[in-house]
Amino acid sequence: MLKKGLEGILSQSELDELFSAFDQVGDIIILRIPDSLLTKKKIIGETLLERVKSANSVFYQSSPVDGDFRTRDLELIAGTDRTETEYREFGCRFRVDVQKTFFSPRLSTERKRIADLVRDRDIIINMFGGIGMFSIIAAKEKECIVYNIDINPHAIRLCEQNIKLNKLLGKIKPIEGDAKKIIDEQLEGKGDRILMLLPERSDDFLDSAIKAAKKNAVIHYYCHIHGDKKNDVPVLAKEHFLSVMSIKSDVLGSKIVRPVGPRYYQAVVDAKITK
Ligand code: SAM
Repeated sequence: MLKKGLEGILSQSELDELFSAFDQVGDIIILRIPDSLLTKKKIIGETLLERVKSANSVFYQSSPVDGDFRTRDLELIAGTDRTETEYREFGCRFRVDVQKTFFSPRLSTERKRIADLVRDRDIIINMFGGIGMFSIIAAKEKECIVYNIDINPHAIRLCEQNIKLNKLLGKIKPIEGDAKKIIDEQLEGKGDRILMLLPERSDDFLDSAIKAAKKNAVIHYYCHIHGDKKNDVPVLAKEHFLSVMSIKSDVLGSKIVRPVGPRYYQAVVDAKITK
């Protein structure tokens, strides 16, 4: 139905490209538009707004995710100029600001995988916790404690709101600041499970993750990996992890989380620290 609205305005290959770069978060649509179609961005935005009844705003993503806060530039192309909305996932509610904070609906399968691994009484150190997506889904049904650290003050304010929006069995402690400094000052040797969701900089923070870990803790190490063959990526991720890991660990598994570019993937390595 959506594609029908743009038939005649866009070619079939342009339509295919557009719809693979299209996300809906609550009532906000975000899409990337190839340079060749930028002159048509208003009509694309207006058509999407008209056809997707649950949408109130359409934004064109005009920059990649970038900077310390891992945010992106958005330009309104149709509807209301508001970047905050409500998003629901696995029975949890989230206030999300798609401009001031990092947010990706494409990590939902990974969030569920981590939540399923968490056990009652686990202490989780979510080093780059953002608005609390992984932390809240994990604490929804497990009596765990999660330290949700983030350097972006907007993300921590939203995390505080999101904790209040949800009925949780576990406890979440939002902490604003640099993960390295917070671990040095407050969390050394405390974690049963360490989450490292900043794949671009995991290697810079691996020693802090090790410092935060108890004996037998599990580190979830995320990285970006080039692979000509998709099937090779989990092995390449494991090899990379072992090449940067400074102490003995058992790799429990590695897998692709999502594609992030042509022959380029976000991968995760789960490893048990045996220090
Ligand atoms: N885990 C969240 C999620 O999946 O929605 C956010 C992941 S996002 C890729 C990485 C987060 O790390 C951003 O929210 C950013 O603000 C935060 N960040 C970047 N550098 C940091 C640092 N040195 N210490 C703590 N947080 C940091």
